[in-house]
Amino acid sequence: MCGRLDYFLNAFATLRTDGSRKNWTGLTYHRSPYKPFLLLAVLDFIESGIIARNFIEPSFELAQSFQNYCALILPPDRKASMSYPFYHLESAAFWELKPQPGLQHQRGLAISVKRLRQLYLGAQFSEDLFPLLQMPSSREKLRTVLIDTYFAAEIRPTIREYSILNCQSTLYSTSLLTTQELLPAFGLTNNPSAHVDLARVRDQGFRKAVVKLYDHRCSLCGIKMLTPEGHTIVDAAHIKPWSLCHNDHPTNGIALCKLCHWSYDKGLMSIDQNYHVMISPAVKNDPNLPGHMLTLLDRPMFRPSESRYWPDLDNLAWHRREKFSKR
Ligand SMILES: [Zn+2]
Repeated sequence: MCGRLDYFLNAFATLRTDGSRKNWTGLTYHRSPYKPFLLLAVLDFIESGIIARNFIEPSFELAQSFQNYCALILPPDRKASMSYPFYHLESAAFWELKPQPGLQHQRGLAISVKRLRQLYLGAQFSEDLFPLLQMPSSREKLRTVLIDTYFAAEIRPTIREYSILNCQSTLYSTSLLTTQELLPAFGLTNNPSAHVDLARVRDQGFRKAVVKLYDHRCSLCGIKMLTPEGHTIVDAAHIKPWSLCHNDHPTNGIALCKLCHWSYDKGLMSIDQNYHVMISPAVKNDPNLPGHMLTLLDRPMFRPSESRYWPDLDNLAWHRREKFSKR
């Protein structure tokens, strides 16, 4: 087993990556970070239990995680697509693409995640690598090789911190959806210099749980917009602010698009005791406020399929009483 680990440590350290001084800074030693970032995202998913068998789907969540890694070093206007590393990791001996039924493996078609999904079901690690990725000690060594080989010393703590945040927030999200509120213990990593702020773990874990329950749909206006590359229009909002109740249970959350989130926070929208949308009279009276919101008046809000996750009526009442603008 040890010999196999050494073999894969070497394989992880010798990924074929594009070098370009024009495109990449010294933070990545002037090489593309996409393959290491994809592998780090996959390792996080294995650690937090999202990937439990040897099959990696090019899912929305994986694309989102890949984007979050890229955002650590790329300027906001620089577009990255998970399709490139997902496809081109084929050049590494441990990654095998699985074409859609009836399709053949084709060369050079990784232009978008949408296209990638049309052509491939996903990918598989070599049979002898996956067990090593499931074991915490060998997974940590493989993760460290990725971080230390492809990233300069000054950015490594940021990447390691994000990895911990990614894993712990997913565990927190799972705990919110399964049992009562549980804060996961720190220390999933052996690196003592890595420190992740508890508030960020909470925040991202709450977000993951609520956005999943509402299936990325705004609970008030119903809009659902996902890009295959990993972007969504919705946020997770606390019905009663966390600062007042320290309650991250999904029944104190709703998924909201940017406009509804702003309107809800400003008291221009609320939800009645029958889960119908309320619009403040201020929206009708003020020509500067978005008039199309009026079409949502009295429409039932979108709720999770299981009633145990529906918004808590006391928290909704709090919002109507304390936040909603009645004039
Ligand atoms: Zn909305």
